[in-house]
Amino acid sequence: MQIDLSVQNVTRKFGEFTAVDNVSFTVEDGRFFSILGPSGCGKTTLLRMIAGFLEPSSGRIMIRGNDMAGIAPNKRPVNLIFQHLALFPMMNVGDNVAFGLRRRGEKKDQTRRKVASILDRVDLPGFEKKKIDQLSGGQKQRVAIARCLVLEPAVLLLDEPLGALDLKLREQMKVELKKLQTQVGTTFVYITHDQSEALVMSDYVAVMNRGRFEQVDTPQNLYASPKTPFVARFVGDNNSWTGKVVSLKAQSAEIETVDGHHFHIHVQDEIAAGKQVTVFLRPEAMLIAPDAGLTDLNRFKVSVKSILFDGANSRLLVSPVNSEKEMLVALPQNRQFDYIQPKDTVEIGWDQHAGICFPAQEETI
Ligand code: ATP
Repeated sequence: MQIDLSVQNVTRKFGEFTAVDNVSFTVEDGRFFSILGPSGCGKTTLLRMIAGFLEPSSGRIMIRGNDMAGIAPNKRPVNLIFQHLALFPMMNVGDNVAFGLRRRGEKKDQTRRKVASILDRVDLPGFEKKKIDQLSGGQKQRVAIARCLVLEPAVLLLDEPLGALDLKLREQMKVELKKLQTQVGTTFVYITHDQSEALVMSDYVAVMNRGRFEQVDTPQNLYASPKTPFVARFVGDNNSWTGKVVSLKAQSAEIETVDGHHFHIHVQDEIAAGKQVTVFLRPEAMLIAPDAGLTDLNRFKVSVKSILFDGANSRLLVSPVNSEKEMLVALPQNRQFDYIQPKDTVEIGWDQHAGICFPAQEETI
């Protein structure tokens, strides 16, 4: 498989401050690769270095095997799409899409053919004469993408392109963008702070925190096997506890939480008795009595604070009796739990293999 983008030990400093800290990754041809992280973690700085608007302080960026050091943005085989699509409102769709080709001095006939063909591929056939302000938000998005793709970049860089859209359109565009990328087969590098965008669209996601990549993985692995506490918190919902290992037998650790609860969890080798730990459990790993999977080891009486109805993803917000600690419990999709009401007391628990446990000091948020 051809490597379209290779970022090697790239660091960017602004004075004393390190915005991007020794980041390395590769993206294969045709992949949808996302960089996911909170505001200020360094995503835009990294993207601007790939696009050529900013030079790395150290490290190397290769596109299709060519070192990009000192190469101007307009000479790189990449295009960048921003949140504000920067379409020319006075020009029609065809002229917007043809803009880059004309600047390159391509012949009229060829330009017309390429524009028609790319508009076909983004599902806007025959839209050449339409005005930009006659288009829906989703159509404008596709024109912006067509305008870049017509130049046949090795990599299309997208900087939170859905950020300015309303929620409904954003949900729709997530699916459309993924479909479009699969259809055209161009390599996408997409930055976002929205984990659901990254998980839905990407082949691989890099989770970024304070200038560093914490984990680069498939969406499925990020969710099922987070490698750091930051990833466990940032990707999907997770219940978390901090506490101490009070006893350990054959990798089954008894944890005493800071608020005095005791439970058991299966742990990895590096966890020893006496260690401070943080434990994470997904809402869907929590079981509600009379579930047959509930054991006597991990069983709590909790009071239901509210029922968060969301169709198939409905959940309970609960707190252990005499505690302020809140937990999310996914409601299984069968309807046997319909009887549960706010203020009820129910028993919940979890299988001790369902959680993930980290040494507490590893966390850097
Ligand atoms: P957002 O999602 O809010 O856009 P981001 O993850 O894209 O955030 P960056 O814009 O890359 O983050 O910024 C990373 C850090 O680098 C921030 O703390 C920012 O203040 C700092 N930074 C970015 N550009 C400069 C600059 N030109 N000079 C000094 N500091 C900068």
